[in-house]
Amino acid sequence: MKVKSLNKILKQEPAVNLLTQALRKKRLSHAYLFTGPKGVGKETTAWAFLFHLFCEKDKENPCGECRACKKIEKEIHPDIYILFPEKREITIGQIREVIDFLKYRPLEAEYKVILVKEAEKMNPEAGNALLKSLEEPPFYAIFILLTENFSKLLPTIVSRSQIVRFRTIPKGVIKEFLKKNFLFEEEVADTLAEVSFGSIGKAITIAEKGILEELNSFVKAGFSKSPLKKFKVAERLSFLSLQDLDDFFYLLTLWVWRSYLKHKIDYPYPRAFPEEIFEGDPYSAIKTIYEVKTALDSYVNPELSFYYLLNLLHTS
Ligand SMILES: [Zn+2]
Repeated sequence: MKVKSLNKILKQEPAVNLLTQALRKKRLSHAYLFTGPKGVGKETTAWAFLFHLFCEKDKENPCGECRACKKIEKEIHPDIYILFPEKREITIGQIREVIDFLKYRPLEAEYKVILVKEAEKMNPEAGNALLKSLEEPPFYAIFILLTENFSKLLPTIVSRSQIVRFRTIPKGVIKEFLKKNFLFEEEVADTLAEVSFGSIGKAITIAEKGILEELNSFVKAGFSKSPLKKFKVAERLSFLSLQDLDDFFYLLTLWVWRSYLKHKIDYPYPRAFPEEIFEGDPYSAIKTIYEVKTALDSYVNPELSFYYLLNLLHTS
């Protein structure tokens, strides 16, 4: 379910105020550049903004029930074009399709909106082609570019866009959000808030996918003397998607690092992290984790790789 109203966006007041004012005064820019760290609500805010723009019943408080709202929810509104990198980049061919999309007036709404995810992945040709349509946009066109790093965009694109900044969310806010929406216990919510570094998106993914539980069972198996336990965990992990594996390796690396800090200087250790503490050399462990992660990208046998990592945990 998408957030349908800008006033429900968490802790991004400057961004929300800027957009709300623009809607109220009907002074919309042709291009918005949403910039800020991963997972702090850029895309959520973009969709909420679209509900305000397109709702057929109430533009101040989008209804969520009209034809437009329903189509936005399902991401099938004919006046919204979603652009994202195919493989590693956004190509000129994709921008040409956008230009075609903008040739005709909106079918159902007042505007045509192009939502560009990971805008920094436009290659230079694509960027230049996009710039042309930013320079002379049809009156009904609105671009929303999302990026974690706007310094990677062509400066001429940045200067043509209204910049909307997003910031990291305080740990306490994420923790309360997790407790309220996922009914987590205090220490789990606390740990997830801590490891997500201000990115509510990351906290939610880790929570929903159970990655913290995976970390706990992985470490437990690593410390056990039972090959069978290790095989089972290795097998289960081999079914994780690449995206989930990224999060798993992220947590595993963090566990190694936080173990080291706890061990060395008794630095507070996340409360829902494994009881077992890694006591080997963190640098070589993190290097190995990275190597295994890279190897998995080149299709080595995942079960073997995890088994190897499991055996490394308390020996290195
Ligand atoms: Zn509506």
